Amino acid sequence: MESRPALPTLAGMPTAPAPTAADERRVVSAVPSGLLVGGDWRSGASAATFDVEDPSTGDTLAAVANGTPADGMAALDAACAAQGDWAVTPPRERSEILRRSYELIMARVDDLALLMTLEMGKPLAESRSEITYAAEFFRWFAEEAVRISGRYSGSPDGGSRMIVMREPVGPCVLVTPWNFPLAMGTRKIGPAVAAGCTMVMKPAQQTPLSMLALGEIMSEAGLPAGVLNIVPTTSAGDVVGPLLADPRTRKISFTGSTEVGRGLLAQAAQNVLRTSMELGGNAPFLVFADADLDAAVDGAVLAKMRNVGEACTAANRFHVHSSVAEEFANRLADRLAGMVVGRGTEPDVTVGPLIDGRQRDSVADLVEDAVDRGAKVVTGGERVEGAGYYYRPTVLRDVPAGARILRQEVFGPVAPVATFDGDDEAVAAANDTEFGLVAYVFTRDLARAMSVCERLETGMIGLNRGVVSNPAAPFGGVKQSGVGREGGAEGIDEYLEEKYIAMPS
Ligand code: NAP
Repeated sequence: MESRPALPTLAGMPTAPAPTAADERRVVSAVPSGLLVGGDWRSGASAATFDVEDPSTGDTLAAVANGTPADGMAALDAACAAQGDWAVTPPRERSEILRRSYELIMARVDDLALLMTLEMGKPLAESRSEITYAAEFFRWFAEEAVRISGRYSGSPDGGSRMIVMREPVGPCVLVTPWNFPLAMGTRKIGPAVAAGCTMVMKPAQQTPLSMLALGEIMSEAGLPAGVLNIVPTTSAGDVVGPLLADPRTRKISFTGSTEVGRGLLAQAAQNVLRTSMELGGNAPFLVFADADLDAAVDGAVLAKMRNVGEACTAANRFHVHSSVAEEFANRLADRLAGMVVGRGTEPDVTVGPLIDGRQRDSVADLVEDAVDRGAKVVTGGERVEGAGYYYRPTVLRDVPAGARILRQEVFGPVAPVATFDGDDEAVAAANDTEFGLVAYVFTRDLARAMSVCERLETGMIGLNRGVVSNPAAPFGGVKQSGVGREGGAEGIDEYLEEKYIAMPS
């Protein structure tokens, strides 16, 4: 199978004829609408359903079974029943299930992309890129599954032998957000399958369809019943809470907001669970006076506009040296003003809708606050009227230090530009946040680049590059952006426990 780039480049996105209404109906109706529990698709205990909406029109796409706490518990029962056999399934078998799943996803990339665009809104080319990125986690962890090793050594005093084995953590609860409906799931499911853990997955209520489609693909790839259970619900807290309180659960892996993550950490503490938390961001994008401005603007478009700015890695605030700030803001504004806003299924569209009206109001509020405090709108700064939750790509300049948009995650297509004069000032501004997921640094001076990177309080840095995500790299944050890493050689460690055996020498 041909290898593809892992993430979207907004420039040069492939164009294809727009899918027809019949294509849309076909891909939606192919998705199971039930809960996946113990290998069976079933309606929930209450038989209730909830509607999934197309954010580009506000129309209902599908109705999905609405899981109850009893359904969550049935899913955990299934995961626990499957755990013993799954833990001792040969690594090669687990690896091949992941590899087959990767191939099935790639064979269906166009249908899965249409499905994702319909439920989440991003343009089709970006959905295709997310699906490729999502599938790559399965290819990566298929390769890691057969490389789980332990160690043997003698104690320093020569008195004993030490063997360290690595075993699966056990049944895991996985909770994912709506902004990357597939990739945030495969980043957890891939290493869990590779390590030999079973799972209860709760996808976001706004985007359950991609995850349900994945459940079917993994069953087709030979994943045994009960290893992956999927419970969409509109009652996240009521369903997840009892799962974390159940002593059989051994881990929670969560991707979402810092606020919800804090609550889950507190619940997890009651049973001393293993935790992986991929939480919110507030990424600074630093442009120094010596930066290659062409590269910085290209990087800024990618870092800001991927996923309409609804990404934890989105550049949230631009700190630009005062000697180049105006030129940078104008050039970025020209690029953003040239982007095409519309329904993600249309071939030329590069900016889809925001996920819902609440998210759009929140973006509009942050812009209003900045403008009230003296920021200037270079381009955009307004909603697009009509159906769907569209907001114009926006650049703000002269954003004052007190503006809320510099402190809060924007999650929308707005680039606020503030200025700095010295390196220490730039680093201090970048670090002036409780978040620490990612930062972007543009400079041609290697010594400055290294000094700034060493001082930034983040888990990841894009150096002269607007994209950091890669399945082969450890993704994650410091400070209140999270705990643990997903992807890379480190990703599987989150799903393994060490067991040490002491023997006489
Ligand atoms: P969210 O509101 O925290 O929701 C995330 C998930 O948690 C959803 O499935 C949600 O269910 C569920 N949830 C909500 N309350 C819960 C509770 N009390 N108990 C258990 N589960 C609960 O976040 P979001 O708005 O979907 O996603 C955006 C956030 O995710 C941003 O802050 C973004 O930075 C962060 N994010 C981080 C990363 C990363 O890798 N660091 C990646 C992507 C996104 P419902 O759908 O039912 O609300």
